[in-house]
Amino acid sequence: MNNIWEIGNLSVSQGDKVKAYLELPTIEENLPTFLINGFEEGPKVLVLGGIHGCEYTSIDAAQKVGVDLLPSQVKGKLIVLPIANPASFYARSIYVHPRDQKNLNRMFPGKKDGTDSERLAFWLNESVFKEVDYIIDLHGGDMIEALVPFTIYHVSANEWVLEKSKEMASLFDIDYVIGSSDQVPGSTYGCASEQGIPAIIAEAGQQGILSEENSVLLQEGVKNILVSIGSLEGKVKKSESTYISVFDWYRSDFQGLWYPAVQIGETVVKEQLLGKITNGFGETVKEIKSHTDGVVLFLVSSLAINDKDPLLAVGA
Ligand SMILES: [Zn+2]
Repeated sequence: MNNIWEIGNLSVSQGDKVKAYLELPTIEENLPTFLINGFEEGPKVLVLGGIHGCEYTSIDAAQKVGVDLLPSQVKGKLIVLPIANPASFYARSIYVHPRDQKNLNRMFPGKKDGTDSERLAFWLNESVFKEVDYIIDLHGGDMIEALVPFTIYHVSANEWVLEKSKEMASLFDIDYVIGSSDQVPGSTYGCASEQGIPAIIAEAGQQGILSEENSVLLQEGVKNILVSIGSLEGKVKKSESTYISVFDWYRSDFQGLWYPAVQIGETVVKEQLLGKITNGFGETVKEIKSHTDGVVLFLVSSLAINDKDPLLAVGA
């Protein structure tokens, strides 16, 4: 019996692989897509890259997963969207969609008649998220962000989704695993887990540089998850993780110049100076001190800083 898998305008027969553009209703750009329908039955999995258009390492990693895997290897079904936000990618737009200046990873589940980002979120959720059993969303530091690799899962009220997501987040060769209690609503993984779909974000790479090493780290992690859920043959590789429950973001409340006093991966103590903001004349207008003991997981590396911009985050 031929088991055809349909996603939007695309379809793939059992035992086949298709690479083609996914067209979503009311979305101007088409999304390059790999669809794999394995010979054998198994879970349906989505791998996303490029929700943020300048996180190049994660885009490269997602694309390579899509290129590498074959229907003879995959049990079940796999869809890979390496450039999920093409307008942001080609505009080299940091954080936001170039047409509405909104962060796609704060828009889920989106709005059918909303702005560009809201519509993209809506159709990704309707046409793709709801068709799969697991979601792996690859990210990294944006053009102006340095970070140490970490993964995030949503602390869902659904015990099974919570445990499964936490397990998935622990399967990268990455030290820091963050359980997020919805500090940032509208994320891919938060929206997915609220709908009963185990989902995670993995972050590696930074500052607009394509890192081969971090791309491999993400690819290996994705494949390790696929092994653990029964999509791929093999042995699950376990690594030691540090679990973090507080992910403390610091934001600017001035426009000015940002001088971090710490580095990524650095351990900090409560009240330690994390950095300062000066005005255009070099006078300090704000000193940022740590609320907690913890480790600096990401750090904005841009000297120019705007009101409400993120500055850094400390995991505790
Ligand atoms: Zn991102």
